[in-house]
Amino acid sequence: MTYSKAAPRYAVGSGWNALLPRRVPHEQLPKERRYHAIVVGAGYTGLAAARRLAELMPEKDIIVIEASEIGEGSSARNSGFLSPSAIEPRPNAYGSAEDDANRKTRIVLAGLEWLRTVVEEHRIDCDWDEKAPRIVAAATRQGEHRLLSSRQALEKRNLKYLEHDAQGLRTLLGTDYYLYGYETLTRAFIQPAALIRGLADTLPSNVTVLEHAAVEAVEGSGPFKVRTPRAEFVADKVFIANNAHARALGFVADRMIIVYTYAGLTPELEDDELGRLGPLPAWGVLPPTRMGTTMRKVGRRFLIRSSWSYEKEANPKKVRSTLTRLFRRRFPQMRSYHLEHVWGGMTAITVNGGMYFGELRPGLYASVGCQGAGVLRGNIHGKLLAEMACGSQSPLLTDRLMLTGPDWIPPEPFRGIGAIARMTWEHWRAGREY
Ligand SMILES: Cc1cc2nc3c(=O)[nH]c(=O)nc-3n(C[C@H](O)[C@H](O)[C@H](O)COP(=O)(O)OP(=O)(O)OC[C@H]3O[C@@H](n4cnc5c(N)ncnc54)[C@H](O)[C@@H]3O)c2cc1C
Repeated sequence: MTYSKAAPRYAVGSGWNALLPRRVPHEQLPKERRYHAIVVGAGYTGLAAARRLAELMPEKDIIVIEASEIGEGSSARNSGFLSPSAIEPRPNAYGSAEDDANRKTRIVLAGLEWLRTVVEEHRIDCDWDEKAPRIVAAATRQGEHRLLSSRQALEKRNLKYLEHDAQGLRTLLGTDYYLYGYETLTRAFIQPAALIRGLADTLPSNVTVLEHAAVEAVEGSGPFKVRTPRAEFVADKVFIANNAHARALGFVADRMIIVYTYAGLTPELEDDELGRLGPLPAWGVLPPTRMGTTMRKVGRRFLIRSSWSYEKEANPKKVRSTLTRLFRRRFPQMRSYHLEHVWGGMTAITVNGGMYFGELRPGLYASVGCQGAGVLRGNIHGKLLAEMACGSQSPLLTDRLMLTGPDWIPPEPFRGIGAIARMTWEHWRAGREY
């Protein structure tokens, strides 16, 4: 196995991936070195771009090059919420904050539609669940206040929801930790590792996947040379879909930071323990602030996601003890707080919540910076990027081209000082939402 500075490395494997049967990665170098398109990164964005390119150009050959293996990147490390919310709507040259929110909502809803179609068409077994309630719940008065304004945003976009008071939440979830919450009726949950593996396994036949091959450089300009430690490939078009690691290749370097966040999964629970997490077989709870804690009851297990670190992965022992404490705080009635799997994952964060999407230079495209909510965003942006590169036009692509990109961020040490100060402050403000 080759490690490269340009590629992500994790202390511990994805807990979701560990629940699945072993998979043999596609490590063998293909004979072919010349492709029409090379996609860098086999997360949701990269696989969606490859799928759509292959559909639009069935006669062309495409290769996806992945540094790690499918089922071990952030796309397999997340909490599995498919969230229809618009991130940080803002006014820009194309209209008001309302227009921006409407565009972002149309984009993520199209992402949900498309992903559902792909999953159904290819019968991808990823525990797709649109029944389990997805509840945004507040544990503080301040959090409750925030939810009132995010609820209004849902109303404006005709997204239906149900409200739950503290008593209702106690009945549903089995905890009296929360004061107020709303349940969005447009929602879905997935087993992330199963989804990304299924998406890779069902790519059209003109797509080759190469794993354990970190791209170390993209050189030239149509044709591009794409260098990995084991071979050099040539292509007319290159798609940068490796999230914050685009920075290591010299792309979008002054717009993104890496924030790690962490998740833990219990073993399968006995019936009586499951009953302490409420009567429903599955649910998901999101916090009202991004420094808060996410939870799921899923497949007889309990998942908790919380905590953060800037640019470096935190010590796994410390993470385990934090997640255990947060679990106990919410469910003091459990018999055990053992987490069978605890892992971290990277998110690519920008100052204003904007993603980079577009053509960096002729033939070189990128979609990076999904924040902590990239299951739908990654999928739909990968698809739209491929359509843009093929010259397709659609109202949705027009929507996307009207969104603001990420703001500039200063270099280190100012970047780190600013980011850590802001996250520490948000963490402090989150209070019991953490
Ligand atoms: C703990 C956690 C919980 C989360 N929960 C949610 C959630 O509930 N819902 C949600 O929507 N989002 C969630 N997210 C965020 C979501 O996982 C990401 O936004 C999403 O994975 C982004 O997809 P992507 O394809 O753009 O990038 P990635 O998934 O990061 O994929 C990029 C791929 O590129 C590869 N790569 C990197 N460098 C190179 C290189 N040099 N050469 C080749 N390949 C390279 C990486 O190995 C990786 O596989 C969560 C993230 C974490 C960590």
